[in-house]
Amino acid sequence: MRIERCYFCSSPIYPGHGIVFVRNDCKLFRFCRSKCRRRFNQKKNPRKTKWTKAYRKAAGKELVNDPSFEFEKRRNIPLKYNRELWNKTIEAMKTVTQIRKRRESEFVLKRLRKANTIERERDIKEVKRDMALIKSPAAGMKREKRKTKPKVIVKFEDEMEEENSEEEEEMEEESETEMVAA
Ligand SMILES: [Zn+2]
Repeated sequence: MRIERCYFCSSPIYPGHGIVFVRNDCKLFRFCRSKCRRRFNQKKNPRKTKWTKAYRKAAGKELVNDPSFEFEKRRNIPLKYNRELWNKTIEAMKTVTQIRKRRESEFVLKRLRKANTIERERDIKEVKRDMALIKSPAAGMKREKRKTKPKVIVKFEDEMEEENSEEEEEMEEESETEMVAA
């Protein structure tokens, strides 16, 4: 018995489940549930429907090229029953699924990490762009005025000092140093 894949969403179809559509050129289309069959009848493209495996793989959201997928490939070569080989394959299936699960989770984590940085950048951009929504542009005006006023005075003083003779400046510096010492 073989576990088939849904033509539309590529989920597994266990024996006794789903429905098969045979086109008049003898091609088989297997569907896991009526949802998938209906989409097929509506001629929807599984690559453009977001919940299908085909879309997720096409959009780079899932592992695509991995040697662990080779194991599951369909082979139409008849095999003679061999107990040892059967046991070996059963064990191999377990290890292969384990490895694939680990790789898939790693892939997803990698993807999410990338998304985090992108999201943060986008957030920062948005905040910068819409700063007016958080803080009104008039909010800091008064404070800025207050800040700028003493600056002007300082400049004025500087100018005054420049105008003063160098000796006086030296005197002032000395007095300042004395103050610091005191
Ligand atoms: Zn399906």
